[in-house]
Amino acid sequence: MVRSRKSSHQNSHQNSEKKVEPWYAKGLQFECQGSGQCCVSHGEYGFVYVTLKDRQNLAKLNGLTTAAFTRHYCLKTDGVFHLMDGPADSKGLKPCIFLKNKRCSVYAARPTQCRTWPFWPETMTAKAWTKDVAKFCPGVGKGRVWSKEEIERELSDQSTWEAQLGSN
Ligand code: SF4
Repeated sequence: MVRSRKSSHQNSHQNSEKKVEPWYAKGLQFECQGSGQCCVSHGEYGFVYVTLKDRQNLAKLNGLTTAAFTRHYCLKTDGVFHLMDGPADSKGLKPCIFLKNKRCSVYAARPTQCRTWPFWPETMTAKAWTKDVAKFCPGVGKGRVWSKEEIERELSDQSTWEAQLGSN
């Protein structure tokens, strides 16, 4: 969920005009294994971006005003707010500032991109799912099966959220 702003909105979930079933039509098995992997910056996945709504939710959980939360925990890159990193680990990788002992310490108010992971527009091609997500995330292939409808709801939430990034 720590990510780049790379965006690809031309993926297979948007092919309803042709009524072609998406590659994940039978659902996908995924359940978070608590590895904390997706909360560490690496490769092209660099930031946890936050909208105003995300910051408001996090501020409330932390007993802060939104302005104070933003000052203490956020940075802005290319006009878009994102969470700060915590200290680098022994490999030089930087975790999200809210990752404590491989657990999210703000789980109840985690940002949208954290909640919708791994069902993002850019990860929902069969190739990206197999070559990128499944190799990186130990939750793929574990636990419950997410139905096509559930996956598309997450994709929709993520797309709506992406459109709001940088606007406040
Ligand atoms: S807010 Fe929580 S779930 Fe999101 S990257 Fe940070 S530690 Fe992980």
